[in-house]
Amino acid sequence: MRWSKAFIPTLREDPSEAETVSHRFLLRAGMIRKVASGIYNFLPLGFKALKRIENIVRKEMDASGALEILMPIVQPAELWMETGRWQAYGKELLRFKDRKEHDFCLGPTHEEVVTEIVRRDVRSYKELPLILYQIAVKFRDEIRPRFGLMRAREFIMKDAYSFDADWEGLEKSYQKMYETYSKIFTQCGLKFKAVEAHTGAIGGEVSHEFMVLAETGEDTIAFCEKCEYASNIELTPAISSERYVSEEEKPLEKVYTPGVRTAKEVADFLGLPVSKITKTLIYLLDEKEPIAVCLRGDHEINETKLERLFPERVLRMANEEEVFKIVGAHTGFIGPKDLKIKVIADKSLEGYPNLVIGANEDEYHYLNANLLSTFKPDLIADLRKATYGDLCPKCGSLLQFIKGIEVGHIFKLGTKYSEAMKARFLDRDGQMKPFIMGCYGIGVSRILSATIEQNHDQDGIIFPWPIAPFQISLMYLKETFKEKAELLYQELSKNWEVILDDRDERPGVKFKDLDLIGVPLQIILGKKFETSQEVEVKVRKTGERKFINLERIIDFIKDLENEKL
Ligand code: ATP
Ligand code: MG
Repeated sequence: MRWSKAFIPTLREDPSEAETVSHRFLLRAGMIRKVASGIYNFLPLGFKALKRIENIVRKEMDASGALEILMPIVQPAELWMETGRWQAYGKELLRFKDRKEHDFCLGPTHEEVVTEIVRRDVRSYKELPLILYQIAVKFRDEIRPRFGLMRAREFIMKDAYSFDADWEGLEKSYQKMYETYSKIFTQCGLKFKAVEAHTGAIGGEVSHEFMVLAETGEDTIAFCEKCEYASNIELTPAISSERYVSEEEKPLEKVYTPGVRTAKEVADFLGLPVSKITKTLIYLLDEKEPIAVCLRGDHEINETKLERLFPERVLRMANEEEVFKIVGAHTGFIGPKDLKIKVIADKSLEGYPNLVIGANEDEYHYLNANLLSTFKPDLIADLRKATYGDLCPKCGSLLQFIKGIEVGHIFKLGTKYSEAMKARFLDRDGQMKPFIMGCYGIGVSRILSATIEQNHDQDGIIFPWPIAPFQISLMYLKETFKEKAELLYQELSKNWEVILDDRDERPGVKFKDLDLIGVPLQIILGKKFETSQEVEVKVRKTGERKFINLERIIDFIKDLENEKL
């Protein structure tokens, strides 16, 4: 591509709407433009990067034996009613009516549609296993679309669905997809980790997420350096390495604690460690049943663990007003003693003597509260987020934590959808059985954001070689080099994605743009070109500059390419 013929509207200034690095650079590099909240245009450069990612995904999916199809984004309500998700899915499912008043939705995922394909046309175990996939638009009416392509409402996903005759078959399909995903993310040039994950709204029992490691990630991964264990913190069991020193129970004492509300404030006021202060949080189940959740002041609630105690029910934290109505005291002074509602205590309160709890009366706390003697929870469970000092559930070593961006998710669904939709095949024993299913998603457009979060500096994007929209740029500092630059451009374009910056602009402007759009290898026909036929090469990632004789340039690039730019 010649830059003079391209449409790459780069921006000098940071757009005010951009909150994250990737969002900022996607806009500044002229790759995307916003149409509405969470809805974007891909301009040529952004679309090219997306296609490069798609090609890797498609190549590896095809190599795994999966078959590419294309399903509609508009889906009839009837299919979603069969699985009960028309009611259960919530507001992310965008529902609407057509001119005949029939209900439809925009597909946020395609389990129902793909199960319909298979139930109609697959009859026998002889046709299994079958893995179908597509690379297509999804729509989810996210409550808070943000960070550009990272959490969009309309986005590109690769979704695949496996159909097997038995559970061993599903295990094989799942393993195959796990390996395929590992290949895909490795080939994209990303640093990633596969972690055990929660199954969420899609369902099923086992799942793994593929996380691109980046400090700006929204997810936290707990992992162990000794063994292979890694999980999304939503799922990580909290196993403390702390042993409480036994202490005699002291008499309960009500104390005046005016204006101190947070665990930290109470601890400072009383001169105690934060861990001794018990936080009590009020939640509402299905908008009507209040429950109280107690945990140590220095621990954080893990709402996924709490949700798992109440499957199929909707849970949310009560607001200030609701808390006052339920307890008769304000947030900050709530405690588990004499509460008339269900109380659930986190495991780490067990055996921790002489705690501080809210007195359920404004401005008062109790000192020396003890689990069992002062208050008896209805349930003691693991409710907190794992944290530094906690132990690996597999091998008992200390856990480490790192931030990640979820770019892929694989699930074992079992028969959840095939049972509900009566999708059955004739097995070798002559019985009709439901298909055993798995589903496998990759956020293709999110990969673009995640790549930039992981690979950038203050000047712009540093694209990994395999997915760079342009891998090599060519610039000439004198008009008389133009012809040679053209020849080199044609030669290099045989093997790589090349952009020839033939604009009538100052070199400074060109250097800035090439850095911004993240070209990994920049070639300049500059001062040594006239005298010794040497071109200057700049490696975007390291900033390293070298002079190379024109004759050696192709070998030089091939060597660099093998080192993974
Ligand atoms: P998240 O927890 O981030 O909302 P999810 O669990 O809802 O993700 P899946 O249903 O597993 O996501 O979808 C498969 C993949 O699609 C995800 O791993 C992610 O990469 C991508 N994805 C999901 N939601 C979005 C979104 N709103 N914008 C961009 N990509 C998304
Ligand atoms: Mg989601």
